[in-house]
Amino acid sequence: MINPGDEKTIRTATILLDGDRIAAVGAPNDIKVPTDARQIDCQGKFILPGYIDTHVHFFQSGDLFTRPDVVDLTKVRPYQEELGWIKSHLDDPFARYLRSGITSVVDVGGPLWNFEMRAKANATVKAPRVAAAGPLISSVSRPQLDLGDPPIVKIETPEKGREFVAQLATHQPDYVKIWYIVSPEQPASSFRPVVHAVIEESHARKLRVAVHATELDAARAAVEEGADLLVHSVTDKPVDAEFVRLMQERGTMLTPTLVVFERYGRTFANRLNLTTEEKAWGNPEVIASLDVTKLPTDKVPERIATALAHPDDLLGRIQKTYDVALKNLKTLEDAGIPIAAGTDAGNIGTIHGPALFREFQLMKEAGLTNLQILRSATATAAKAFGGATGSKIGSIGPGQYADLVILNSNPLDDIAHASDIQTVIKNGVIYPANSLIR
Ligand SMILES: [Zn+2]
Repeated sequence: MINPGDEKTIRTATILLDGDRIAAVGAPNDIKVPTDARQIDCQGKFILPGYIDTHVHFFQSGDLFTRPDVVDLTKVRPYQEELGWIKSHLDDPFARYLRSGITSVVDVGGPLWNFEMRAKANATVKAPRVAAAGPLISSVSRPQLDLGDPPIVKIETPEKGREFVAQLATHQPDYVKIWYIVSPEQPASSFRPVVHAVIEESHARKLRVAVHATELDAARAAVEEGADLLVHSVTDKPVDAEFVRLMQERGTMLTPTLVVFERYGRTFANRLNLTTEEKAWGNPEVIASLDVTKLPTDKVPERIATALAHPDDLLGRIQKTYDVALKNLKTLEDAGIPIAAGTDAGNIGTIHGPALFREFQLMKEAGLTNLQILRSATATAAKAFGGATGSKIGSIGPGQYADLVILNSNPLDDIAHASDIQTVIKNGVIYPANSLIR
């Protein structure tokens, strides 16, 4: 048994489950096993808490048509059709998360429909536990995504920000989400009064705030204003000592989402690097759509045409982003900032479920240890999940939910073993991993 949160491992362990909970954990002699208990022999296996991905979006499928505001392919597949498919196929990504050993996820933003999605997931046996934010509060609008229930809402004044939080509060969101977009025309300072009002109003209502801020200026402003979770790495500059100290003082958590930084560009440039796990456990229709060479030649958007013509430029830009983001992750981990694993799955090319294992590879590249990576996807991710559920996931102990992943090989030896999954247990229900998806 490996409990990454407290670094506790038990070489020969008995884990007693009772219904949806873990009843007891310890050396076999210390655990009183009821005589009628069903016993599962896990000799030679490695048991961990179920993984948690703290940054996903169920309103996005991960396919090529899921962000018409980024690449407009609505003439190939109308957005209405795309969204209809997503809403009617939720069971599909749900099962793929479990197949990947992921028993809880945080959806950090989408339409108001997100709250129905959360209710559905939490009422579905073969689904991860879901925490959810509602629409992203932003300085920019994305009308291409607005079919009546927009995932991104432009808020122009602090008063409107407070009103919107009051409206969101009726849905009991797990997070209020701010999409802090910075451009030469809109420096971090211009949207800051809204950020201030939204965070203050949310905290007054005991709601936590998650902020998308990939520039150091915006991230610093967000942390100063009291953001609870930064949902991406800073990618434009190295984080400085002052910023690190600020995060330490405020106790701000961070989700690095490294994988998503490569996937838009690689998809558009026809240089997609899906892992074995993604190819095996990702949705095959979604993956098939990502082949941009199959698009009708007269319907290739400019952004994809440019990427196809100059793939090395794009790969170079991705590398530059990683040169900064990976180093920042290492700096923050070393400084003791709580790092919660997350992928931004659902964005183009970032595959619901197995994308987490590409995230692990990149975290390893950043210099994190296998234990640190596992902790980010269990104990620390549980803190980011938060609430009553968050305190009962991410670790193996009495009273915790019976969410476990059983591996054939030791992930402390090699993080690649984290996907060598034999069995997944969610809420006490046992699934041979191979049975979860066809
Ligand atoms: Zn996101």
